[in-house]
Amino acid sequence: MTSTSASSAFSALAPYGWDEAWADAFAPYAAQGLLPGRVIRVDRGQCDVATADGVLRADTAFVTPHDPMRVVCTGDWVAVEPGGSPRYVRAYLPRRTAFVRSTSSKRSEGQILAANVDHAIVAVSLAADLDLGRIERFLALAWESGAQPLVVLTKADLVPDVTGLSYLVQDVETTAPGVPVLPVSAVTGDGLDVLAAVASGGTSVLLGQSGAGKSTLANALLGEDVMDVRATRDVDGKGRHTTTTRNLLALPGGGVLIDTPGLRGVGLWDAESGVGQVFSEIEELAGRCRFHDCVHHSEPGCAVLAAIETGELPERRLESYRKLMRENEWIAAKTDARLRSEIRRDWKRKGAEGRAAMEAKRGRWR
Ligand code: GDP
Ligand code: ZN
Repeated sequence: MTSTSASSAFSALAPYGWDEAWADAFAPYAAQGLLPGRVIRVDRGQCDVATADGVLRADTAFVTPHDPMRVVCTGDWVAVEPGGSPRYVRAYLPRRTAFVRSTSSKRSEGQILAANVDHAIVAVSLAADLDLGRIERFLALAWESGAQPLVVLTKADLVPDVTGLSYLVQDVETTAPGVPVLPVSAVTGDGLDVLAAVASGGTSVLLGQSGAGKSTLANALLGEDVMDVRATRDVDGKGRHTTTTRNLLALPGGGVLIDTPGLRGVGLWDAESGVGQVFSEIEELAGRCRFHDCVHHSEPGCAVLAAIETGELPERRLESYRKLMRENEWIAAKTDARLRSEIRRDWKRKGAEGRAAMEAKRGRWR
């Protein structure tokens, strides 16, 4: 690439998040005459890539190995061929972050949902009772991806008094150490400017239950109806104009929004370190337990139990921590054969103990 085309590529791709670091990572591909671009949609062996030459349709055959985690996905920065029929994606740049979920099928490999996300915006409706456990799950997933989470409490207009609202914010803040909590209303517009400012600094995804207000937030960020924006006319690989559904959009106020159907209602996936960050205060207390392998049940010198005793740590937090750890172990076990056989051995041992106990009892009764 000549330096003029490199700089025009730079300004054309900047709205999609292109920066010096991406340009550096791309340099070897530029030397091969390949074009940089960001994947805005993937669909059965094809993807749409936003490039300096507009949106190009490209074939992903070269970047579709058997490992589903290594498949090109929305948000990836890729190197595409400048022409050809079909035109191929030759490589994708190393990801900064990645959202993954467990598939609902029996083959429980992770499925990659979005790449290079900076902000995970977790939408939680104030129209219903707060489900702190559910918020914790979304946060674990967000931390695990590498993105910075933000909790947005939507429909704040439905909470009539200011004091009530500040209590709700506090509840969520206690559940989410290190995570900003922002009440917003699409009706009054409160908080939307702050949200737009956060979103302008990188790539965001909207997570949350159906009805939480994600589409409404997306529309507010986009400043127009999402569906209209999504169905834009683009040039495909053969130079024809086609209508493209975009799962990745450049925001008018800066920043990028990724909204793929698969990201809605995601499950936990191998989020052990994410769980640790959601429960950072528990991990911190655990560091002060007398035994380093303390499971905070009845061990002497357990700092976690001591904190529950003094009321410093709500018991509910420890319960959700345990629950999330268990669930996480279970999902990991579905894929990790070794862990699976360990768990099976553990069950066998428990079974054997149970049988022995039963027989001992029977013996006594005999
Ligand atoms: P999604 O399923 O997460 O995309 O949620 P939607 O954006 O479709 O919103 C669900 C419902 O909540 C819709 O009926 C919206 O009109 C309503 N809603 C969204 N934001 C607000 C808000 O700030 N205030 C009120 N009162 N209703 C809202
Ligand atoms: Zn302990």
